[in-house]
Amino acid sequence: MINFQKSNKLDHVCYDIRGPILEHAKRLEEEGQTILKLNIGNPAPFGFNAPDELLVDVIRNLPTSQGYCDSKGLYSARKAIMQHYQSRGITNLDVEDIYIGNGVSELIVQSMQALLNSGDEILVPMPDYPLWTAAVSLSGGNAVHYVCDEEANWSPDLQDIKQKITPKTKGIVIINPNNPTGAVYSKEVLLEIAEIARQNNLIIFADEIYDKILYDDAVHHSIAALAPDLFVITMSGLSKTYRVAGFRQGWMALCGPKHHVKGYIEGLNMLASMRLCANVPLQHAIQGALGGYQSINEFIVPGGRLYDQCMLAWRLLNDIPGVSCTKPQGALYLFPKLDQKKFNIHNDQKLVLDFLLQEKVLLVQGSGFNWHKPDHVRIVALPHTGELQDAIARFAHFLSNYKQV
Ligand code: PLP
Repeated sequence: MINFQKSNKLDHVCYDIRGPILEHAKRLEEEGQTILKLNIGNPAPFGFNAPDELLVDVIRNLPTSQGYCDSKGLYSARKAIMQHYQSRGITNLDVEDIYIGNGVSELIVQSMQALLNSGDEILVPMPDYPLWTAAVSLSGGNAVHYVCDEEANWSPDLQDIKQKITPKTKGIVIINPNNPTGAVYSKEVLLEIAEIARQNNLIIFADEIYDKILYDDAVHHSIAALAPDLFVITMSGLSKTYRVAGFRQGWMALCGPKHHVKGYIEGLNMLASMRLCANVPLQHAIQGALGGYQSINEFIVPGGRLYDQCMLAWRLLNDIPGVSCTKPQGALYLFPKLDQKKFNIHNDQKLVLDFLLQEKVLLVQGSGFNWHKPDHVRIVALPHTGELQDAIARFAHFLSNYKQV
């Protein structure tokens, strides 16, 4: 009998948010244990409901959405996305520059598959949302990680970016607001990254899925609006802001001049057409979501659920001896640091597993976000404050006598 192995293409592909520790958690659940899963940024299970008008639009259009649509997506939805970006200062794009996918995830993979040849390099932040690194690897490229500096509110280290550019570098990924760090980048930093891209002929991939989840005085700037002379692929979707991750609706907008990327766009069109189209009925949620009242604004101000939960988690984590955490400026996560001397952690996957087994709470280890040291974990700030408080109290209890040998 031939033993079938996974393809070599997957040798360096890794996605730990739903990795081996989640399998342990599922086993514990099958044994009847209750596990608090703080590993995935999925708002709905934590009681964040979709705005009603999104559901109404989908239901009304369901009977007439039985066929495939254009591979790039429904015209009305794409037009709404285009107008949304125009109102945010991105003016150099057309309806034909908008592609709707089954979540941003699908578009991340397509954007890399269409571009990379073996050995090509893409600059990816460290820590990152790990699908970016996985998509680069799956496409035969090398993800070259640039450091985001915890001491500087997790801002990208511009010197590090410059040093890591080689003749093989094709593009740079910017995740802003950032998962897992919660950083929101200043206009100055974005302008500097744009200048680096300009000088080195790089495509910018701007993952802006958290662009409306901002706390205190954080302001989000789209890099495509700041650098209209550059080719920027801006991505976002409905999963987080509109709390419908299960709808699998994301989009990318090809912003800026296209004369030098015609071949690449041919590749993107090819991949879009090979998967026929994104789920059609759910695309009807996009127009209603982007226009009119933005209910997310209720959640991100003091007294709103997301704000209060994030800030509570941030305060409580910093109260734990040996733990320090940068204040999130946006998104849904906290990325605390654990003191190396105190805990002697050399295997952060083991740390997360030990915590799961002892306290029945599931986190994701920092190395799952391609962070280079075993000294961080990511916590999702989606549970109500009471549950979050309990989870962090369990983390404090667990750490109070934890040291790896
Ligand atoms: N980009 C970032 C930074 C994310 O955090 C996520 C999901 O957590 C995605 C993309 C994927 O989102 P989608 O649900 O649109 O596939």
